[in-house]
Amino acid sequence: MSVAEKVQAEAGRDFIRDIVAEDLAAGRHKTVVTRFPPEPNGYLHIGHAKSICLNFGIAQEFGGRCHLRFDDTNPTREEQEYIDAIEADVRWLGFDWGDHLYHASDYFERLYGWAEELIRAGKAYVDDQTQDEMRLTRGTLTEPGQASPFRERSAEENLDLFRRMRAGEFPNGARVLRAKIDMASGNINLRDPVLYRILHATHPRTGDAWKIYPSYDYAHGQSDAIEGVTHSICTLEFEDHRPLYDWFLENLPVPSHPHQYEFARLNLAYTVLSKRVLNQLVTGRHVSGWDDPRMPTLAGLRRRGVPPAALRDFAKRIGVAKANSLVDLGLLDFSIREVLNKSAQRRMAVLRPLKVVIENYDGPGEELEAVNHPDDPAAGTRRVKFGREIFVEQDDFMESPPKKFFRLSPGAEVRLRYAYFITCRDVVKNAAGNIVELRCSYDPATRGGNAPDGRKVKATIHWVSAQDSVPAEVRLYNPLFTRPEPDVANFVDELNPNSLEVLRDARLEPALAAGNSPEPVQFERLGYFARDRDSAPGKPVFNRTVGLRDSYAKA
Ligand code: ATP
Ligand code: MG
Repeated sequence: MSVAEKVQAEAGRDFIRDIVAEDLAAGRHKTVVTRFPPEPNGYLHIGHAKSICLNFGIAQEFGGRCHLRFDDTNPTREEQEYIDAIEADVRWLGFDWGDHLYHASDYFERLYGWAEELIRAGKAYVDDQTQDEMRLTRGTLTEPGQASPFRERSAEENLDLFRRMRAGEFPNGARVLRAKIDMASGNINLRDPVLYRILHATHPRTGDAWKIYPSYDYAHGQSDAIEGVTHSICTLEFEDHRPLYDWFLENLPVPSHPHQYEFARLNLAYTVLSKRVLNQLVTGRHVSGWDDPRMPTLAGLRRRGVPPAALRDFAKRIGVAKANSLVDLGLLDFSIREVLNKSAQRRMAVLRPLKVVIENYDGPGEELEAVNHPDDPAAGTRRVKFGREIFVEQDDFMESPPKKFFRLSPGAEVRLRYAYFITCRDVVKNAAGNIVELRCSYDPATRGGNAPDGRKVKATIHWVSAQDSVPAEVRLYNPLFTRPEPDVANFVDELNPNSLEVLRDARLEPALAAGNSPEPVQFERLGYFARDRDSAPGKPVFNRTVGLRDSYAKA
């Protein structure tokens, strides 16, 4: 992103919003109409979220509307499951298409009629060449293509063949309908692109009515024109398709003339954003499903605990630019923390427990008051159980600490959050020499965490009651890939073997086990965590949404 683009992004503006504002000011359109056009061949990912936030965001900001249009032109790859998931995900992200739900398949009859018009006008022909032959005669960037031997068929013959293609007379791949534009064009997209191919496949919406299906290029712009889309916003790969997009609009009696604008797609470090590869991760069982919390899908992010507001915030921060770039994962984590820091309640949990026996603490235990949110008194307080035996984090103890280690070590005094000062008196080891327990003493005068004599400690650590805490499974996630820019052709070799770390002996304060809300909470000092749907009664499972600090910056 250039400096100018950064400044714009902070102001919530970008070159596309500038174009829209100018078009409206100049009276070129009364209202802005955008669309988000997913192909239902997989689940939406965070790259799509960028496009959704842009298209729906513009409609909201400028008082226009945004259509959800399924680009359902390839029935061999498309499924109802994906259609349902896409609708749910767009809603979850916070956007609403109102009555404006459309499908390219709504326009199949009209698109077909227009194709016949092109044939009658001598602007389209049926080609009997094989796919390979067409590829070989398309030419290269430096050489023109060669005309198909079928290019000069009469309109009558073309019409007859095209109708028979539609009627299902020919097998898959036997013929295609091509636009007759220019085999010598410097833009390969204009070298007689394919408009229709034969496909004997059942479509989720039109069933077996069609034996031919339009290409993306042929369907897309005309669908935009039918819906009165004013600004058709897509990613940079389609820049070279724009002359073709415009050619169709100029050569067909379309009801409106949309304009296509291109922006840089989101590329995220250590992440693959391609439905094809994500699909292979699922079918190859490299992940547990489309909603595996390691997946960059909206379903996966949601399951990990990422709030939709964080994705909207992220989309705003990355902005909309004309040049491709790679976005750091730390930026996504930053947006997640920004949102969760404000919304998440605080709780205590110990991920890797180490038992502490407080030798001078007698009696049945007591309840101490803990705040639910340090910056929001309205969030209230709760009672946490304290007793003679507690668990602390293994990491919070070192037998021979380096100089700057201020947490528990033999002889050191620390504060237990919301409780007392304790001092480590003894270390208990098992036969193998591993530390299994700490023996500590506490100072009863420090109840609530302050010493009446004003004495200070350098560290406050979290803990849970040994008796009352609830065992839980906690899943920690790391990037799915080992390299910042995974090689999509070789992605299996670049999978991170440590992308999932399962902690089976974590302990939670009872308040965490009782609820079954999927709202993320902050485990104090550890990060943000959300209850997973694998939880069973008495057996909670939590996902780490994000840690408290930027671990990438350190690495
Ligand atoms: P994929 O390669 O993941 O299959 P796609 O472009 O084929 O992506 P579509 O369903 O056709 O998937 O995409 C719908 C819309 O989302 C398109 O307008 C597309 O440009 C946009 N989009 C897809 N990926 C990204 C991305 N990484 N960043 C921004 N926009 C994206
Ligand atoms: Mg696509």
